[in-house]
Amino acid sequence: MSTLEIKDLHVAVADEESQQSREILTGVNFTMTTGEVHAIMGPNGTGKSTLSQTIMGHPAYHVTGGDIRLDGTSILDLPVDERARRGLFLAMQYPAEIQGVTNAEFLRAAINARRAEDDQISVMAFLKELDRNLALLDMDEAMTERYLNEGFSGGEKKRNEILQLLMIKPRFALLDEIDSGLDIDALKVVSKGVNSLRGANFGALIITHYQRLLNYIVPDVVHVMMGGKIVKTGNADLAQTLEREGYAGLRDELGLDVPLVDED
Ligand code: ADP
Ligand code: MG
Repeated sequence: MSTLEIKDLHVAVADEESQQSREILTGVNFTMTTGEVHAIMGPNGTGKSTLSQTIMGHPAYHVTGGDIRLDGTSILDLPVDERARRGLFLAMQYPAEIQGVTNAEFLRAAINARRAEDDQISVMAFLKELDRNLALLDMDEAMTERYLNEGFSGGEKKRNEILQLLMIKPRFALLDEIDSGLDIDALKVVSKGVNSLRGANFGALIITHYQRLLNYIVPDVVHVMMGGKIVKTGNADLAQTLEREGYAGLRDELGLDVPLVDED
């Protein structure tokens, strides 16, 4: 069993206009283990993506306090690629396009980068696994010969993030708004992919603004984030309550003084 611990995490970013440092995460605490699916819900702009980027090690996010520990060891000083080798994976809200690298090439490189040099995946094993996962996700094989994310529709990008997830099989997956822009059929496919990995050696942190995805990937634990910290933790019912009462309802119930802007 592996453990991912977020301890009193404070994170600041450089404000784009003023270049002043601005604190986004104001003391996030939670612990998850493999075998569990946690969801983080919260209004726009509260720091959900900041949390996932910080766990993965994106250099724009400065940890000003607290710690992130994988199996008891701090990973704060490790670069992104080393965190990936240790079993973390981030499916991004806005996946990048990479010109000149096909999806299949990228996938094989991503798998091999996580394996020892004398234990690289064979072409045959790779293609077999690729075929299996393409079928599971109802994806066209032609997708794998296209340049990574280039000209992919929003839905194709999301499916492709899940294809990466299935091929890489990380210990902990951070899934940031994988439901945004998906129609109901794509949502089901994406959920099926994530659910197929559930088990003792896999943990997922599902970040979402909406409850809808959590009907398909039912979480063990739900955290609500507001104002840069977790303000409430519960089981899957908490997501249903939020759907009914909205973030404003919970904010008022908890007596929090946080602005809720640009709700959509
Ligand atoms: P959420 O994912 O909950 O909608 P984000 O983590 O994306 O929220 O953003 C939280 C706040 O941090 C926002 O005000 C956003 O503008 C700011 N922020 C996030 N990333 C950066 C960055 N790289 N540079 C500057 N500001 C950022
Ligand atoms: Mg976000």
